[in-house]
Amino acid sequence: MISWNDPIAFIRGLTAQQRKAAALLGCETVGQLLDVFPRRYDDYSRTVPIAEIQDGIPVTVACRVVEIFQVKTFRRSFILLKAKVADASGTIDVTWFNQPWLLKTLLPGTDIFLSGVVTRRPRLGRGFTSPLWELNSPETLAAGIVAPVYPLHGAVSQKMVRALCKAAVEQVTFLEDWLPETVRIHVRVSPLDQAYRQVHRPHSMQDAEAGRTRFAFGELFLYQCALRIARFEADVAGAPQVLFDTNFAKQFVAQLPFELTDDQKKAVWGIIQNMSTKRPMRRLLQGDVGSGKTVVAAMLSALVYRSQQSAVFMAPTDLLAKQHFETLRRFLLPFQIPILLRTGSARILVEGGEERKLTVDQINQRTLQGRIVCIGTHALIEKNAAPPDVALAVVDEQHRFGVVQREALAVAKRHDGLVPHLLSMSATPIPRSLALTFLGDLEMSIISTKPKGRQAIETMIVVGDRGHEKAYERIRSEVIAGRRAFIVCPFIEESDVIEARNVEAEVRRLQNGPLKGLRIGMVHGRIPTREKDATMQAFADGGLDILVATTVIEVGVDVPQATVILIESSERFGLAQLHQLRGRVGRSSYKSYCFLGLADDGPAIGRLRVLEKTQDGFVVAEADLNMRGEGNVLGTQQSGEVLFKTARITDVNLISTAKEQAEKLAAQDATYQSYPALYRLIQIMRENQHRE
Ligand code: ADP
Ligand code: MG
Repeated sequence: MISWNDPIAFIRGLTAQQRKAAALLGCETVGQLLDVFPRRYDDYSRTVPIAEIQDGIPVTVACRVVEIFQVKTFRRSFILLKAKVADASGTIDVTWFNQPWLLKTLLPGTDIFLSGVVTRRPRLGRGFTSPLWELNSPETLAAGIVAPVYPLHGAVSQKMVRALCKAAVEQVTFLEDWLPETVRIHVRVSPLDQAYRQVHRPHSMQDAEAGRTRFAFGELFLYQCALRIARFEADVAGAPQVLFDTNFAKQFVAQLPFELTDDQKKAVWGIIQNMSTKRPMRRLLQGDVGSGKTVVAAMLSALVYRSQQSAVFMAPTDLLAKQHFETLRRFLLPFQIPILLRTGSARILVEGGEERKLTVDQINQRTLQGRIVCIGTHALIEKNAAPPDVALAVVDEQHRFGVVQREALAVAKRHDGLVPHLLSMSATPIPRSLALTFLGDLEMSIISTKPKGRQAIETMIVVGDRGHEKAYERIRSEVIAGRRAFIVCPFIEESDVIEARNVEAEVRRLQNGPLKGLRIGMVHGRIPTREKDATMQAFADGGLDILVATTVIEVGVDVPQATVILIESSERFGLAQLHQLRGRVGRSSYKSYCFLGLADDGPAIGRLRVLEKTQDGFVVAEADLNMRGEGNVLGTQQSGEVLFKTARITDVNLISTAKEQAEKLAAQDATYQSYPALYRLIQIMRENQHRE
């Protein structure tokens, strides 16, 4: 037997090619290999006689090769093989493309398994096209079984990974199960070793699902335990108490240029209640884009200042930090509250009615004095750039789950050991059950009504050239009326070069055609941050009419004069993301328009109709969840370290069971230290989240 942490090379019977494949997958040890989980399974367990094959349904046949030959084609680079295979019940045709070596492998008379789907094809007739095949031997990897489908990179084939994992599962000595036995038995999930076998070598689809369930539960349970420890640590440390001045709160509300909505008032009140205790607040403020979350944070920051302490306000990018700085500055101006902007490119202090650019030393000094409102990016807390008396940390636009997760696991302490109150603001409506997993026992505020005077954003799917002409017409007329437009090109995974080229080509096309004469700017991932910020600023200030961008604009830019957004290849975006993008317009009392561009009529239209019909982010989020459905794991790739590899958004029952069990165990041992294996994994999970 070989052990879990042995190098891949220790697995017996591997070919050099298979070892190379493991390296390409990024696996060095046997354990790392087995922790590559299949994305899904192909069920080839039904072996049927050839005569009974139904078109369109995946099947496996056990058959013998009767003949195989190459068909001449006109293109030399294209190789077409045709074969006839037979069993006792009949014969069927098979076609393979560009696999000339099969001529030498599948000699007539060879017994094989073929797995695939039979279809009737124009020109080729009825038969299998490029089916999986294997020699008929007890060592089969896919045919005749439930075959795992692994996530792959480039040069590695499914067959290769299946062979690797099969050998590994058979030879390895599994680690001891870290899940406390009482929990495992109560929840009735497989022991660890069995689960690995079920996942990599399932006997049936149910078997595979049982294995996945065990890992999903494990991930969710670990996460819940980590959340409870984080909460426990925070509670033990305690928070700075913030005493509120009701008169001041009234004055603040009175000087606002608008009246707060009921939901905004309720949110402020709920947060005030939390912060006047010594228990660190962990609260999520959810509100659709444009619902007015910033003013809530501004008011709380002012109240914190009034209680002789500091607040920090963190945005995901320098540009957004700058925008928030300008906004808060306006809200705080009447009260002479000092406010500081600290980003990679700017250090600005507004204090005593005057604005100053600061050196690094100066800003550090001023920060140390405390009693100030600081605005910046995440670096504020991470790089210890927060004032020593920070009582409230606001984290804005946390609609990437990964970031919310990290926030929940991290416990940033001040020098005196106290933990500041935390307010996460999110524009993505997260269903309550999910929010609970992400942030544990957090408090939640929801702003569901938009400020008065907002009009619904007219949303329309536009197909092909004729549809687009409608969108361009609207863009031109809005620009003439003094407004601005966003045009969004799709994000292209894994190639920002292609993505950048697309954006550039689109700008040229628009400049020479449909939007000739308008002032068009562009931003994409290949443009340096400084230049990008300048372009966005020019667009915000009115120096540009049109901004052609990738999804970099998704996060929070506030340009009230932008009234049109055209989203190209809209079928490539999730509904929630489209809703988020749509929220870039409709931020004023002007009527706004959202065009969902499609190249042609396709199946995507049905899905996109949801957006034509509703403006309600919760409805969109729900529809999005339902449509993404299975195979959709929790968490995102964007956050680097993936927290959940097997748990899915649809595992609602597992989520609540994991929470219950974590609580039950914590009742006996608040920090889980009497379960050393579990404790170690929790620590690793928390460290990984911090490291990002
Ligand atoms: P988000 O929740 O997306 O961060 P913002 O805080 O940027 O939304 O608010 C969007 C716009 O609505 C801002 O221009 C803001 O000044 C304005 N706003 C906020 N609250 C109200 C209100 N109660 N009445 C009218 N306008 C408001
Ligand atoms: Mg915002």
